[in-house]
Amino acid sequence: HEAKESRMPIRVFSPHLGAAAGRRRVLETDLRRALANHEFLLAYQPKVDAGSRRIVGAEALIRWQHPEKGLLSPAGYIHLAEEIQLIVPLGEWALRAACFQNKLWQDAGLPPIQVAVNVSAHQFKREDFVETVQRALDDSGLEARYLELEITEGALLQGSHDVLHALRGMGIVLAIDDFGTGYSNLSYLKDLPVDKLKIDQSFIRDIVRDPSDAAVAQAIINVAKSLRMKVVAEGVEDRQTFDILEGLHCDEIQGYYCGRPQLPDEFIQLLRQGFAMPEEDIHIIRAKE
Ligand code: C2E
Ligand code: MG
Ligand code: MG
Ligand code: MG
Repeated sequence: HEAKESRMPIRVFSPHLGAAAGRRRVLETDLRRALANHEFLLAYQPKVDAGSRRIVGAEALIRWQHPEKGLLSPAGYIHLAEEIQLIVPLGEWALRAACFQNKLWQDAGLPPIQVAVNVSAHQFKREDFVETVQRALDDSGLEARYLELEITEGALLQGSHDVLHALRGMGIVLAIDDFGTGYSNLSYLKDLPVDKLKIDQSFIRDIVRDPSDAAVAQAIINVAKSLRMKVVAEGVEDRQTFDILEGLHCDEIQGYYCGRPQLPDEFIQLLRQGFAMPEEDIHIIRAKE
């Protein structure tokens, strides 16, 4: 009994820790409680085929339904979740929730789409990652080709190619997230068994006004095509940006222009329509049909 007690973490409030450390500790406790209390949700943001403008996929993005603060985006807590490795159970929850949700939509007769889940380095480098993914597919009944995993370049460097080969062998779609912001070394890219590149929003944001951003996007698209990868642009907020990227033969578009991340009840309306565009631009889709 005594030994057990002596191993308990000792929590003493030390003023020298400062206000920031105090806030951090409160958030840490709050995060752990939130996971146990099922306060996390997934919002889904459409990915649209640039040519047909139809919804072909969605990215699942974590939201926290905080009892006092309302619906919270990841910016304020995802880094801490990473630091304390809570991202491992949280990420596994997101993976499973996305698989079950996608299967539910399919069973309801909606057009099948690929749902993409973000994977953190801590998850990706774990020995049991492939098993965890396989279990999410088995338990939900979702076919592997409707699951996409988004992994940043930094996270990819921490894992092994064997894991990528195993996941791809299962039929899962693999995408490099935030491409261009990390370790974009082209010789490393050519050996990576991945299917898609997501051009980071920072290269997309000013594409209409800044010709050098357009040149970078074009270069990334060319590299991806020559390596037989598909290209997705993220952070597309207006029609002009969409049109430029379509002109550059980008395959898929994601961004506020095509739809914001939405909770399942609203996202299902988009799925029923089949496309996600502002009302005034819907004639473009009609004309293409
Ligand atoms: P990300 O994976 O790069 O996701 C794209 C982010 O860009 C999302 O932010 C999305 O809401 C936002 N976004 C989409 N379109 C636009 C646009 O047109 N303009 C602008 N300004 N932003 C746009 P969100 O939902 O706040 O997520 C932020 C990051 O949190 C994600 O970046 C991802 O790194 C991380 N994250 C979210 N969910 C998960 C998860 O389940 N697991 C892990 N490991 N990370 C996650
Ligand atoms: Mg992502
Ligand atoms: Mg991204
Ligand atoms: Mg990001």
